Amino acid sequence: MNTSQALYLLIPCYNEEEALPQTAKILAEKMEGFINDGLITSKSRICFIDDGSKDMTWSIISDLHSQNPIFSGIRLSRNRGHQNALLAGLMTVKDMCDFTISLDADLQDDIEVLKDFITKYYEGNEIVYGVRSSRKTDSFFKRWSAESFYKLMSTFGADIVYNHADYRLASKKVLNALDGFREVNLFLRGMFPLLGFKSTTVYYERKERTAGKTHYPLSKMIALALNGITSLSVKPLRFITTLGLFVFIVCFALLLYVLINHFTGGKTVDGWSSIIISIWGLGGLQLFSIGVIGEYVGKIYLESKHRPRFIIDTILD
Ligand code: UDP
Ligand code: MG
Repeated sequence: MNTSQALYLLIPCYNEEEALPQTAKILAEKMEGFINDGLITSKSRICFIDDGSKDMTWSIISDLHSQNPIFSGIRLSRNRGHQNALLAGLMTVKDMCDFTISLDADLQDDIEVLKDFITKYYEGNEIVYGVRSSRKTDSFFKRWSAESFYKLMSTFGADIVYNHADYRLASKKVLNALDGFREVNLFLRGMFPLLGFKSTTVYYERKERTAGKTHYPLSKMIALALNGITSLSVKPLRFITTLGLFVFIVCFALLLYVLINHFTGGKTVDGWSSIIISIWGLGGLQLFSIGVIGEYVGKIYLESKHRPRFIIDTILD
């Protein structure tokens, strides 16, 4: 493979005036080093996506761009959230570069491994997932909530890479495939594994934010988790069907118990059996019926996404 290609670093920014100047300086040094080493071409860029910031973020980005052409910027019309900002970046630059790496503006993701990402790409990987080797710098609560998040996600059928957020390399081929996914509810880290392609991981330590504060409070994390589960899988709907079936089985068990009790002359209370059995029987039947409807709704939901039915990696002609 040609080992000097154009890399775009993609950095979504929302009210990052405090972190941006420092981030830009560090990244520019890194990228210029790579360019001088011939690892990437001089067409490579550091692209900031301003996700409708209300502070000086955009004017900092414009200044950076006028000072040094290695910086480029995309400004969204309003705040749409990290996932949408990242997608906007990916889809805008996919025809300008050979591969992209997305990272956060606060440089919590260790940039020392950028070189490993690039090496793995040149080795033939189309997607490289950045995976946190530990969560030492996170608070106990953040660590616990994040780990529960991954467990919850996999229980509910959302197949994601454990401890991987959005620090990720994606090739042009991958981005063109991603373009075929038409959904509005975005959960990018769950969509990349769906794409397939040769992929690998790079381990790194997550640091503390360089400046400013987090834009991902618990409420946004819960929203992201719910979005991840509901946009990737219809397992919660299937759960209802199973629950309904279970309750219905309990009803039969009760019926059996009542009959045995009756014929063996055990103690019985008048009216208890009929009431309890109808509660469980009807409850089970209702839940089961909702579940069946849910199965169809799930199918409609998945169909309505118009996802591509297959993605071709290579064509030999
Ligand atoms: N971000 C964004 N739009 C938002 C919220 C956050 O583009 O609505 C960006 C933010 O500027 C940062 C990245 O997403 O570059 C991750 O956010 P943050 O560092 O606040 O989250 P944390 O690392 O604490 O989970
Ligand atoms: Mg952060």
